[in-house]
Amino acid sequence: MDLFSPVTALAGIGPSRAKQLAGLGIESIYDLIAYFPRTYEDRTRLVAISQLEPEQPACFEAMVIRAPQTSHIRKGLSLTKLTVADETAKLNLVYFNQPYTAEQLRYGESYIFYGALTGDYARYQMQNPSFESPNQPGVVTRRIMPVYSLTAGISNKLLSRCVHQALDACLDTLPDLLPQWVQAQYGLCSVREAYAGIHEPASFECLEAARKRLIFEEFFLFSAGLQLLRSRRTQAAAEPCGDLELTPFYAALPFSLTGAQQRAIGEIAADLGGSTPMNRLLQGDVGSGKTMVAAAAVYLAVKNHRQAAFMAPTEILAGQHFQSLSRLFAALDLPCALLTGSTPAAEKRRIKEGLADGSIPFVVGTHALLTGDVAFRNLGLVIADEQHRFGVAQRATLAGKGRSPHLLVMSATPIPRTLALIVYGDLNVSVLDELPPGRQTVDTFLVGESMRPRINAFIRKQAQAGHQVYVVCPAVEESETESLKSAEVWADALQRAVFPELRVGLLHGKLRPAEKEQVMGAFARHDLDLLVATTVIEVGVDVPNATLMVIENADRFGLSQLHQLRGRVGRGKDKSYCVLFTDNRNPDTLARLKALCKTNDGFQIAEEDMALRGPGDFFGSRQHGLPQFKAASLTQDVGLLKQAREAAETALADPDYVRDPSFPALQARIQVLFRDAETTLN
Ligand code: ADP
Ligand code: MG
Repeated sequence: MDLFSPVTALAGIGPSRAKQLAGLGIESIYDLIAYFPRTYEDRTRLVAISQLEPEQPACFEAMVIRAPQTSHIRKGLSLTKLTVADETAKLNLVYFNQPYTAEQLRYGESYIFYGALTGDYARYQMQNPSFESPNQPGVVTRRIMPVYSLTAGISNKLLSRCVHQALDACLDTLPDLLPQWVQAQYGLCSVREAYAGIHEPASFECLEAARKRLIFEEFFLFSAGLQLLRSRRTQAAAEPCGDLELTPFYAALPFSLTGAQQRAIGEIAADLGGSTPMNRLLQGDVGSGKTMVAAAAVYLAVKNHRQAAFMAPTEILAGQHFQSLSRLFAALDLPCALLTGSTPAAEKRRIKEGLADGSIPFVVGTHALLTGDVAFRNLGLVIADEQHRFGVAQRATLAGKGRSPHLLVMSATPIPRTLALIVYGDLNVSVLDELPPGRQTVDTFLVGESMRPRINAFIRKQAQAGHQVYVVCPAVEESETESLKSAEVWADALQRAVFPELRVGLLHGKLRPAEKEQVMGAFARHDLDLLVATTVIEVGVDVPNATLMVIENADRFGLSQLHQLRGRVGRGKDKSYCVLFTDNRNPDTLARLKALCKTNDGFQIAEEDMALRGPGDFFGSRQHGLPQFKAASLTQDVGLLKQAREAAETALADPDYVRDPSFPALQARIQVLFRDAETTLN
């Protein structure tokens, strides 16, 4: 049995329990010990009965002064009552359907209980409190209780027991991934103390030390993983591009580029002309014209006999890019192909052959480009659009199909520079801080429920004028089903009760990719007038005929996210509008939302958002393309991230460390951390 053995290797965990655990993403013994509690209950303090607060669970010691008596209320419901007391007060305890448990409580004996008062003042009672003898070590009382996220069939008690077993089985052999000097220098506890302390903390100090160590370790792994990925890429030099002439490209464009676009293209051209592979982030507000900057890079790469690959996060986006780019490149006599999951098999084969023999110099695609059987003759440029949707490792996988290709990642989410540096390392940044001329601003209104009839009339008017409308409902982070339901229920209500004459569609994250594509396709073809959606439409969708964006519960979104959503309209020639619904009366919230009505400048909004909410929004969402951290938070633990990155850099720079026997264990854990990113990091 080792750390990565399946949970069934533990005594008492059979196939059916393993299946339940798998529902929590727990498959190996390591997964169990790395399944950290969601929160903790402080059961360390004993209070007097008279000090108990209603609805606030607490521990107290009391003697049974009236023995348990069970009555059967009706079939299937029994009630066991008893009374306990300490020197301050008496208290009635009630157990439902637990006659055996309750009758373990013996008259005249004292126990430690844990529970919360319910009922009215003067008639307080306590239902189903846990208890144990004061002579036993505390299991459910007098300790800090871990509280785990659970799934059907698994109780907190059961999960705690499984974790305890896993700890027993592997704690002694747990490899220490952090070099000794790192632990000493940064004041970290041992790996044993960390895992024991996070699950079964003896004190809040132990818990804090455990958390610090685990966060540090996770960031260390993360930083080391990124560095290993990066060093694989940058070790080899790129062959400089000699021909950087762009005149024919400019001549083929239907418009002249903005100053910002030209500046960014200049920076990219300089990178391509050098021998260090480009590693550049192109940041630009929604509609700032990032695609054309990417096109210039593709043009230069192909002109210099390299192949280029352009990866988009969805089929819809890939299709849109392909459409606009293939038109442009046709004028330049530069063939290009579209490769996605739904490309027909024969076509796929033809494209793969063309990429392998080099006859197709440029491909636009989705994750389909990442599969093992896609090979390039000479991949020299990799572009990832909407970079926050891709895992770091996914980009690396694509880049790995070439020899040190140039890398350009694009994002409409302005990332604070300090965080970008930490996460992306030596990334260079180009900024498009200017919109193409003639772009109109989207008029934005903040309204309350009282405006509902007028807004509905406005929606109808837009639709009658032949335009389309988005209605976005909030995705509730904690509960996917809740958000799903709200969009679903809302779409249904709008279709039936409000707009029976309009064609209403529904788009949410729970749909399968093919279904999503289908709904988006229908909206793009104007087969739908109104699209009710969760934030899945946030990224890059381009339907110029959509002129109105209505956002429900706008206070539930971050400003940058609202700005992204608003960017879905105002993409055509028609005047466009954004309506933010909220009934929130909090002055801070309203001030935040009003900022959005005042400006259309995404960077200004991002700064405002940062000032108001901290950097959380940028990396807080699930769509950041970074590993899922178990202990760490990129928002709250930036200080530790800096230290861990520094430590990882120093460690990896030491050739002895890489030869250290603990190094394979480190690599194995990096694999696990990046597991979702579908790649290997040897
Ligand atoms: P984003 O930065 O959001 O990806 P796009 O690249 O999709 O923006 O560009 C948005 C729209 O603006 C596209 O229709 C594109 O053709 C157009 N566009 C890009 N650059 C210019 C320009 N310099 N002048 C006019 N229109 C432009
Ligand atoms: Mg774009």
